[in-house]
Formats: sequence, C-alpha cells, structure tokens
Amino acid sequence: MSFRATCLTLFPEAFPGVLGVSIVGNALRQGIWELDAVDIRTFGLGRHRTVDDTPSGGGAGMVMRADVAAAAIDSVEQAGRPRIYLSPRGRPLDQKRVRELAAGPGVILLCGRFEGLDERVIEARGLEEVSVGDFVLAGGEVAAQALLEACVRLLPGVAGNAESLADESFEAGLLEHPHYTRPQVWDEREIPAVLTSGDHAKVAAWRRNQAEELTKARRPDLYAAFREASPQQGKAAKPRD
Ligand code: SAH
Repeated sequence: MSFRATCLTLFPEAFPGVLGVSIVGNALRQGIWELDAVDIRTFGLGRHRTVDDTPSGGGAGMVMRADVAAAAIDSVEQAGRPRIYLSPRGRPLDQKRVRELAAGPGVILLCGRFEGLDERVIEARGLEEVSVGDFVLAGGEVAAQALLEACVRLLPGVAGNAESLADESFEAGLLEHPHYTRPQVWDEREIPAVLTSGDHAKVAAWRRNQAEELTKARRPDLYAAFREASPQQGKAAKPRD
C-alpha cells in the first residue's frame, strides 16, 4: 500500500507545488505515494463559506473556526494516519520523526492560515502540532510540503541511491561532510588532496572528521547529543597525511 498524504488547506491550488517535481514528483506519478488536497472552504458556513472569525478576547487578525476545521478533518478517512497541525508552536520536525512518519501509512496535514486555529479543535481531534522551524510563515502549506518532501524521499524506490540516504546530515547524528566535484582547481581553490588519493579508508576518516568538526562548530546542541549517544566511538581518527 502506498503512503497517503491528505492536506487540508484553504489553498488547494498550492498542491502539489514543489512536490510535483523531481524524484518526489516522479514517485507521485508512479503511485509510490498519493496526495489529496481538501479545500477547507468547502466546509465554510453560509453563503460566503466563512471559515474564520475574530479572536475571542480581542486583538488583531482572525482565527480559523473549530467547527469548520473539525468538519474538514472528519471528512477524511483516517486509516491509521496521524493528524498533524503545522504550527510554529509545535515540536520542531526532525529526521527521527520524519523516518517514523515515512514508515507509517501516511499523514493527514492541517495547514493553518490567519492567526491560527481555535485551540479546542486541536484538543478535541488530538492534533499533533509540528513546526518546521523557529520562524513564522503566512500559512501551513509550505510547511506541509517540507514535511512531505522529507518523508517521501525516504520511501523505498524514490531516491536513486539508497546509500546516499544513509550517511546524510542527521542520520548519524552529525551534519554532513563537505562535497566537491570537478574541476580539480576552480577559482584557485583545489579539492582537498585526500579526496583524490584513491585511499578509501583515508577518505572515510577525513569525511568523518569533517562531519564532527562541522557539527561541533555549527550545532553544539547536536554534537553534545551525538557524544552522549555514542561515547564509545569517541573522536574519529585524524586522517593521516
Ligand atoms: N499567530 C501564530 C502564527 C500563525 S501563521 C503564532 O504566532 O504562533 C499562520 C499559519 O501558518 C499557522 O496556523 C501554521 O499552520 C502555519 N505556520 C506558520 N509558521 C509555521 C512554522 N514555523 N511551522 C509550521 N507551520 C507554520
């Protein structure tokens, strides 16, 4: 059975968006995964199909109504899929959660707009709040596409080279080593000699060392977690040169 994604959105025309291109788009066309965009407006109230109202307690902006959002959510067959509300208040998405989601039957994603969603529907429908980062988007559609792209590229048969998934950033708890390709000299800069030495063990040690140094410098939080999780690995051997 293929991975099923249902996106509840006020802008169904935003889909498939970037999910229609490259390996993820090809996988969609091959039926490796399925995508439905459900228009929340369909469940709006009255002649104007109203979906929002002013915030209780006052203040700027509008809030998506609980009754409308619930009707949209309830119209979707859950089929064992987690219901996720993309929200800057959510747990930051990481590769571990992406792997878990990709291993499951799919996801139901609610894309917010305005100031957000009435709290009661989050509670009543047990929505898992997921954030794609500590910044505020205008709506959940781009966040939903980011989550889906991260999941779908892990599905069997999507990425051309399964090995390239294995030693990527985060998979080993580290950021990835730098990459180089031809030409050998560009802008007076040379490819590090070890990479053209043909010594695979030396290349592996160099990459591992670069990954650790990069992670230590850029993401001390990740590095601390990495050292805690794998103290026995200790520091990679310094490449001989
Ligand atoms: N007033 C809200 C922001 C609303 S932004 C607050 O301060 O928390 C409108 C919608 O965009 C949200 O309902 C959510 O679905 C989406 N969104 C914005 N930033 C996001 C982020 N970092 N991650 C996931 N979704 C986000």
